[in-house]
Amino acid sequence: MTLSQIAKFILESKKIGITYHVSPDGDAVGSVLALFNALKSLNKDCYIISKDTLSENLKFLKGSDEITGEITEPVDETDVVVVLDCGNLERVSANLKEFTGTIINIDHHLSNDKYGDINYIDSNAAATAEIVFELLNLMGISFEKEDSVIKDIGTCMYTSIVTDTGAYRHSNVTERTHRISAVLKKIGVDNTFIYQSLFDNKDFSRIKLIGKALSSMQLILNGKVALLEIDKNFTADLGIDIGDTSDIISYGLQIKGVEVTLLLKEVEDGVKASLRAKSYVDVRKIAEVFGGGGHIRASGIKIKNMSMEEAKYEILNEIQKEL
Ligand code: 5GP
Ligand code: MN
Repeated sequence: MTLSQIAKFILESKKIGITYHVSPDGDAVGSVLALFNALKSLNKDCYIISKDTLSENLKFLKGSDEITGEITEPVDETDVVVVLDCGNLERVSANLKEFTGTIINIDHHLSNDKYGDINYIDSNAAATAEIVFELLNLMGISFEKEDSVIKDIGTCMYTSIVTDTGAYRHSNVTERTHRISAVLKKIGVDNTFIYQSLFDNKDFSRIKLIGKALSSMQLILNGKVALLEIDKNFTADLGIDIGDTSDIISYGLQIKGVEVTLLLKEVEDGVKASLRAKSYVDVRKIAEVFGGGGHIRASGIKIKNMSMEEAKYEILNEIQKEL
């Protein structure tokens, strides 16, 4: 289906659930709230499905108070569920097992399982919000003039783009990324407010935690790989949860000569690994070896029933092959 047909399909639906990937990041939340606020402005009956609650730094977005972690599956009479920014069914932040309506999968991950009844995957989009921007235009929403509803929707999409491009520094940035950003800036979206809300808004304890993680960072494989290992007890003395670690992993690539950063986090039922590459290693390929996925230069894996040591050994082995 073309995006224009999908726009029409959504507008013809009666009750629309919108969801994203588990542990939703700025792109997931920004994309979902942009679509949610837009459909509301068109008087459509829609709501957000989310097993997750939001991290504090995303609560400035309009509609974020709708995300309580309590609506975990489609409610009665829902005919369509739109899943944004999620590559596979296991990672959807909603229970869709019993759902008999239409699942629309809109995403930008290269590794996407096409689990929807309708799938629209554009891996050239730096953020899923780039696709949402086009979708909203096709729904007849105009980003020509400044008004508060449009600005709120724009703020959501700008948040997505800033998140997934690392504030415009990653190689996924295209002319389209800047073109959409320019349109959003023109309707009054406040880029400084968004950046500061997202990144310059940390508790002091978080900075201490980052410091602790960085102190234990190792450089291996001839200085080409930065390794961060975070075990279950890591934050015990700080009295906080580790939460999203994308702020920590990004330091690895700041080191001269480092091509890949691997962050291993011990979780309840195994190990969560995050991978980032600077310029030539395809970390999505490495993640896929272990059933994970993501993008060429940013990917993730959830490994069940493996110790940190085993996971480290196995993943480093795959990284070594690609260096
Ligand atoms: P992060 O390291 O921030 O968790 O994830 C980096 C990228 O990899 C994101 O685009 C995320 O969607 C994807 N990703 C993270 N964990 C997994 C996973 O367990 N499976 C798959 N398929 N993708 C993942
Ligand atoms: Mn994304």
